[in-house]
Amino acid sequence: MKLQSYNELLHSKYRFSLMLFLFLNTAASLFYIYSRKEKTGAPTLIIALLSGLLLLWTFLRPRGKFPLLNIAAVTTGLLWAWQIVLTFELIFYFDNSFLLLSLFCAFFIAAIALNDNLLAFCLHTAPPSAAVVVLDRGQNTAIIAFTILLPLVGFTLNHILQRRRDRFTRRLVSQLYEEKEAWSDLSMLDPLTGLYNRRGLMNRLKNIFDNHAGNHFVLLLDIDHFKAYNDNYGHAMGDQALARVSIAIRDAVRSRDIVARYGGEEFLVLLTNVNDAIAMKLSERIRQYVHELEIPHLFNERVATHVTLSAGFAPIIDEDFDSAVANADRALYLAKNRGRNTILSWEALSQHDLNKPANTL
Ligand code: GH3
Ligand code: MG
Ligand code: MG
Repeated sequence: MKLQSYNELLHSKYRFSLMLFLFLNTAASLFYIYSRKEKTGAPTLIIALLSGLLLLWTFLRPRGKFPLLNIAAVTTGLLWAWQIVLTFELIFYFDNSFLLLSLFCAFFIAAIALNDNLLAFCLHTAPPSAAVVVLDRGQNTAIIAFTILLPLVGFTLNHILQRRRDRFTRRLVSQLYEEKEAWSDLSMLDPLTGLYNRRGLMNRLKNIFDNHAGNHFVLLLDIDHFKAYNDNYGHAMGDQALARVSIAIRDAVRSRDIVARYGGEEFLVLLTNVNDAIAMKLSERIRQYVHELEIPHLFNERVATHVTLSAGFAPIIDEDFDSAVANADRALYLAKNRGRNTILSWEALSQHDLNKPANTL
């Protein structure tokens, strides 16, 4: 899960709190209007209208990201406080149960809808609490203080824990994301040589085409008589030789060139921003570096007593990678037939060479 989707999750949680808060305010004010009929005060009517309309708006604009919750919390809190004052004036005898009930109502709505939003919780409950404290004139200080402080302490602690949980989840999400990236990188590498595999190559190729406008070349390399090497020195030695040749290829080219293991003992180098002459120079350097490794290979028939390779390269024209590989392969094939330990450029081949059918080579 990306951080973006985690943020979307947070947004939908926020939106749900807002809708629940508006719904509870609409329901409470409608109930109040219904129960008091003609004695309904203006604040309750405003709350019903405002909450109802905002609720409708949040339904119609599910993607809207206005920070409405705190504004709605403080506005309804003030309106409820105003309503408490108005109603209290109509009660001609002192009624502490009305004050306590009003306080409970405000905390009840905040507790259900604003339990993850401490600021909104305080903004909503502060005005009714202040109104009740003032109207009570010190008659029931202890019970009112208890009614206000208990949920406040509880929610503050809950809020602190929630923040810690959120931080932990965020850390976990980004860690998982990093690990996913690392795994995805690994799936693009060949485990024996550490070079890109075909998948990694295709991934880089797209990147190269997107970011580099110059001429690129495909260089195909193939170790000479490697079957004979394996047959005589064993598979484990064969693996070691492959790993050493890979390092030599990597060392011979520039850091911006992409080196991939294209098949068993075949390598592909994507030479970026080069011309035919530079491609030849880099290819020749690879041939030399591999030769200088001096990996003994006494069965490299007539070529050398060391491991060698042959190569063919061709330009990528109009981002047609497959055709470039086919052309480089053709040049490589001819290089093998010209005695191996040889490099050929597809562009330098004569039409005569290219016209020869592969099976007559
Ligand atoms: P050529 O000069 O024409 O390229 O001859 P070759 O023997 O190199 O070519 P061929 O395609 O006949 O043989 C390739 C050999 O490479 C066959 C296989 O044993 C060996 N090989 C391929 N992948 C691996 C590998 O991962 N480890 C080892 N040890 N050998 C491998
Ligand atoms: Mg081969
Ligand atoms: Mg070979």
